[in-house]
Amino acid sequence: MNNPNIVILGAGYGGMMTTTKLQKSLGANEANLTLVNINDYHYQATWLHENAAGTLHHDRTRIPIKEIVNTTNKINFIKDKVISIKPAEKKVKLENSEIFYDYLVIGLGFELATFGIPGIEEHAFKIENINSARLLREHLDYNFAKYHDEQKKREARLNIVIGGGGFTGIEFAGELANRIPELCEEYDIEKAQVRIINVEGADTVLPGFDPQLVNYAMNSLEARGVEFITGAMLKECKAASIVYEKDEKQVEIPTMTTVWTAGVKANSIVEKSGMETNRGKVEVRKDMRAPDYDDIFVIGDCAVIMDQESGNPYPPTAQIAIQQSNVVAHNVKSLINGGEMEEFEPNLLGTVASLGNNDAIGMVMNNRKLFGWKATVMKKVIDNRYLFKLGGISLLMRKGKFNPFY
Ligand code: FAD
Ligand code: NAD
Repeated sequence: MNNPNIVILGAGYGGMMTTTKLQKSLGANEANLTLVNINDYHYQATWLHENAAGTLHHDRTRIPIKEIVNTTNKINFIKDKVISIKPAEKKVKLENSEIFYDYLVIGLGFELATFGIPGIEEHAFKIENINSARLLREHLDYNFAKYHDEQKKREARLNIVIGGGGFTGIEFAGELANRIPELCEEYDIEKAQVRIINVEGADTVLPGFDPQLVNYAMNSLEARGVEFITGAMLKECKAASIVYEKDEKQVEIPTMTTVWTAGVKANSIVEKSGMETNRGKVEVRKDMRAPDYDDIFVIGDCAVIMDQESGNPYPPTAQIAIQQSNVVAHNVKSLINGGEMEEFEPNLLGTVASLGNNDAIGMVMNNRKLFGWKATVMKKVIDNRYLFKLGGISLLMRKGKFNPFY
């Protein structure tokens, strides 16, 4: 009998961790393991805001897949773009070929949600992957370099609007606030001429998070020049301005840099596959399989799990994607070797958000609040722990963050 084909789509947190676990637990004569990813590297999406602001080079964030996964003997790695999934035919269409599976793991991650707001697709910058982060960093440099050349509307070059004050928007604001003094020095610009404006639709940034920590974050960012406009919905993005609405009045801010951080959704390939979805995500069963397909697992931001207590979905996080990989890898192996299936239960360990590389806020186990250097250290411990889990001590030593104050 032929070995079953296990195909894993996406080398993000969920896909990579599932692959490394199956690489260890399944013998080469038990299954054929294939990993498909658009790039030949894995990246830590949780560091992209640093790459986008230019405070961390993107080579620190990306990790060549062959450094983690045994692509010589154990894993068939295909660098290609997934175009569509055909569950009824057990087939995945790639840009350059098609592949068939016996068991599929979908870990294609997130895309930004633009909510149909005019101009966002065309004019706003995104923090979505290495390419979009690199583009934003280059664009910031270009605008600072261009400023002295500009005859009209010069302020649009130095006004940076961040649309959305969730964790991504706030973390990016913190990095940017630290980067601006460097850019000003490099391009001979007075810091006072630069504005970082965060526009948030809710009455406060980080809606739903601990008010004391939100207050701390806002003070920390305001002290470094970030302006907040809350209760203000971004309505339109143009090439050289944005429009927001507050108190039923529309206001226009000149800017050539709108950074869209107002929400994420699952990779749209999932919804287009025809599988049953809930707001674009697959509401997986407890064993992480899609409702209608016993051969398809969905992991990370493409999946949704409802919190039975609150009735709300668990938020899409790397923390959950990593935890899910234990159950997905175990259950794939069980389907092949006939073991017991496990059920996934999220174990929320808290949230820690950076405010630049030298400040942070966090709510960790037992509702313990952290801020300042303690939260900064905790954030780096979390990041380093992931690197260790993924690639052991050697990856940790190559990519880890060890200076607690920088
Ligand atoms: P992803 O990590 O998104 O990976 C998906 C992979 O699929 C990528 O490698 C991508 O290249 C690949 N791919 C996509 N489309 C295709 C295609 N068509 N063909 C082939 N390959 C494709 N969460 C936390 O828990 N803690 C944090 O501190 C945190 N910080 C964050 C900071 C930022 C700036 C952002 C944007 C998010 C943050 N998150 C954080 C959320 C977290 O990054 C996501 O929840 C997590 O990345 C989801 O993991 P995933 O495995 O589902 O997919
Ligand atoms: P989000 O959905 O959490 O936040 C988006 C914010 O944008 C919200 O505050 C919302 O009110 C606001 N918004 C929406 N539409 C708007 C509009 N038109 N105008 C102005 N504001 C608008 O999205 P995110 O911050 O990208 O986070 C995505 C996921 O990643 C979440 O699950 C989050 O927890 C996770 N994440 C975690 C961390 C961390 O743990 N450190 C960091 C970043 C992201």
